[in-house]
Amino acid sequence: MKHEPAAANAALVERSLRAVWHPCTQMKAHERFPLIPVVEARGCWLTDAGGRRYLDAVSSWWVNLFGHGEPRIVHAVKAQLDRLEHVLLAGFTHEPVIQLSERLGALTGGALGHAFYASDGASATEIALKMSTHYWRNCGRPGKNRFLCLAGGYHGETLGALAVTDVPLFRDAYEPLLRAAATLPSPDWRGAAPGEDAAAVAQRAALALEQHLEAHAASTAAIIVEPLVQCAGGMAMHHPGYLARVRALCDRFEVHFIADEIAVGFGRTGTLFAHEQAGVRPDLLCLSKGITGGFLPLSVVLSSDALYAAFYDDHTARGFLHSHSYTGNPLACAAALAVLDIFRDDHVIAANRARAQAFDALTGPLREDGRVRHFRRSGMIWAFDVAGAPPGFARRYAEAALAEGALIRPLGETVYFMPPYVMEAGEFALLVRAARRALDTALEA
Ligand SMILES: *Cc1c(COP(=O)(O)O)cnc(C)c1O
Repeated sequence: MKHEPAAANAALVERSLRAVWHPCTQMKAHERFPLIPVVEARGCWLTDAGGRRYLDAVSSWWVNLFGHGEPRIVHAVKAQLDRLEHVLLAGFTHEPVIQLSERLGALTGGALGHAFYASDGASATEIALKMSTHYWRNCGRPGKNRFLCLAGGYHGETLGALAVTDVPLFRDAYEPLLRAAATLPSPDWRGAAPGEDAAAVAQRAALALEQHLEAHAASTAAIIVEPLVQCAGGMAMHHPGYLARVRALCDRFEVHFIADEIAVGFGRTGTLFAHEQAGVRPDLLCLSKGITGGFLPLSVVLSSDALYAAFYDDHTARGFLHSHSYTGNPLACAAALAVLDIFRDDHVIAANRARAQAFDALTGPLREDGRVRHFRRSGMIWAFDVAGAPPGFARRYAEAALAEGALIRPLGETVYFMPPYVMEAGEFALLVRAARRALDTALEA
């Protein structure tokens, strides 16, 4: 039978739309917008069933750090598969989870030396929120059980995580199920008043936090923040001075600082962890997404000695109680260990710095485009807003980009690139070209 690329694609699309309920999607929209059946991926490229290739500018939802099929991660997972695929982590342990915990703790300078595992980012948020409240309860202060979050923040979509997420589209339908949290002003520098710079916006946002804590510290357990870049809310970037102020205020008012680095951790903002740029450590650090290089689901919450110590007791009920069947899965831990090896062996943080600068030189056509506002970068994240983006812009833009051979998914009127760290300059140039052309198409009539 002759290979029919279009037919092969169409068959998979039809079966998927009948049986698979896709995430973050109005299924009916696929009557008009294409669903892409991917059969293979290598490096920064995805290949569909019809043999068409797409340049992955979003690291497959921000998880894929070193390209698809990275041989060292493949090897690590295969080798682990031959020894131990999984074992429960209650009452049992294994080398990969021990090593990963030791190495992650060491990467925080020993400040966050206790690792608690789950499989997805939202669960890491839930765990951090539970740990914080339980800590205050164990300290005899059960009234400290409220959370603070930032405008435009995103921490996942399970009910606890959604309660500290400020993205109306994801929240509104589930509002009756959510426990109210206080939402404070974001330090997003785009909110600068005339004459204000990013540092001043950060100070102003910190002042609002201070005023809130002056009134409500007695009922507040923790503040949760996405350090340096609020990603899903539209790649809103802020000055590290904000994080330094959060740390100081959390110390002064006895409130936990939860850093949600699920998206920005593992080098995305130019340092291994984003909070390092403020010269501070959080009390709880949530990590996921890039942790396995995009190979397997894994998340972890790292906690300080002081926090951990409050749970160490003769009574089970004072221990941290959160059960998940696949906690510390050895295959995922093996992938994560391979990722840490790559960071070390390839000097990824330094290499990314050079790469990002070289890529900056290619962004001229976008920077200088009159329709582009707030062109910005943090580490390996580039973003810009589109002036006067009409309703339905994001979907139209994504479709136009696909037609140009690039996977770019705008967040509302914000277009961004979050490429794998192995993208080449030629590929990035192609991306910039596709992004410009998609702008023309998406803004046409
Ligand atoms: C993606 C994300 C989450 C949720 O992670 P999932 O694995 O999708 O549940 C939480 N926080 C931030 C900052 C994220 O970007």
